[in-house]
Amino acid sequence: MRHGVSELINKLDIDKISGLLEIPGYRIAGAIQRKTLQYVRGMPEFFRFDKPMSTVEGGTSIFIEPFDIIRGFPKIPRTLILYPALKRHFTSCGSVIVEEKMNGYNARVALVGGSIVGLTRGGFVCPYTTEKANELIGRDFFLEHPDLVLCGEMAGPDNPYVPKSFYDIESLEFYLFDIREKISGKPLPVMERKALADNFGIRSVRFFGEYNVDEAHHRVTRIIKEFGDSLHEGVVIKDPQMRLPPVKYTSTQSNCADLRYAFEFYNDLGRDFFFPRVCREAFQSVEWGENEEDRRKRCQRLGESILLPMINTINRKKQGERISETVQIRVRKLETARKFEEHLHILGMDAVFEEPEKIGDEYLVRIKKIYMSTNDKTESTLRGELWS
Ligand code: ATP
Ligand code: MG
Repeated sequence: MRHGVSELINKLDIDKISGLLEIPGYRIAGAIQRKTLQYVRGMPEFFRFDKPMSTVEGGTSIFIEPFDIIRGFPKIPRTLILYPALKRHFTSCGSVIVEEKMNGYNARVALVGGSIVGLTRGGFVCPYTTEKANELIGRDFFLEHPDLVLCGEMAGPDNPYVPKSFYDIESLEFYLFDIREKISGKPLPVMERKALADNFGIRSVRFFGEYNVDEAHHRVTRIIKEFGDSLHEGVVIKDPQMRLPPVKYTSTQSNCADLRYAFEFYNDLGRDFFFPRVCREAFQSVEWGENEEDRRKRCQRLGESILLPMINTINRKKQGERISETVQIRVRKLETARKFEEHLHILGMDAVFEEPEKIGDEYLVRIKKIYMSTNDKTESTLRGELWS
């Protein structure tokens, strides 16, 4: 059933939402018309902001029955150099807190109409994240704090969005990095958030320490260098009071790992991944005052991260293989896998679900994501078509 715009507008109490989000009512109605505020059918029924609108983050969800709002997770600005960027950004803070930046997918967990739901960055209720959130976090926290949202990274091999298995995680774990108010999105100060999480036995991201702003760049440099080849992604540097937005900074190993991944599917992902990461490498090399040998190593690492996976892809295609990525989920209920398949379909993803494999009391389901553009481009180029 298709819904007309006025029918959709009628589903919402525009005045109430306008007051809570501080956006004029006519703009909310306009956003529905332009599909910036999109209706998502299903259980529960909700709307989601596909893009930011004035001070409301993209990925903000509005639930209809019972009514609720969960603000989207704000973008975290990145720095390419540590000094003087940190000193400049955190100028009003005496100290900053440095935490590990985990590489998984962003998940927000909240109580909506008495049920725990797991939301992805885009503001979708994800059936898989919801099952995992119920299992990993449970209800205790929400019984005492029904108006707070747990924001964290879901990481581990059973991650269908960003599979990274180097963390020594068996399946999937939730690492908390923020607690925010549902409707305002206001975050708790870092130490308050950590204490609350510890009280409820909720795992947090790794805490490196609180440092004087003037020396934070030295500390972060040391932390990043100590990651070595371990593929840890980087750090997020935070105002202890969380009044200023945090800043992210990543390691060269993680930049290169991203490029290796993106260039395997070069025509789908390569372009977007390429330029920002080259810039990060160049600024880091200058900030660290590298000698010729270190610089050459960096160039070689970067070049290999781009070309080797792409050459591999072309060779595989030449041998008639289909270029795809296999990810996996582990679920207790097959129903969750079925709903997740529907969810990926709504996201417009080309994914083939394989037969579930029973492991203990769970099911492992492998999912093949097909990268159409890379397949087509490689095939046509190998056939002799001209690159246009
Ligand atoms: P953004 O929209 O913030 O630019 P992105 O989609 O490009 O994000 P990333 O480059 O991975 O994503 O950086 C931001 C993300 O890092 C956050 O959305 C969050 O999921 C993740 N993250 C991991 N660890 C932390 C942490 N300790 N504190 C805050 N965010 C963290
Ligand atoms: Mg990330």
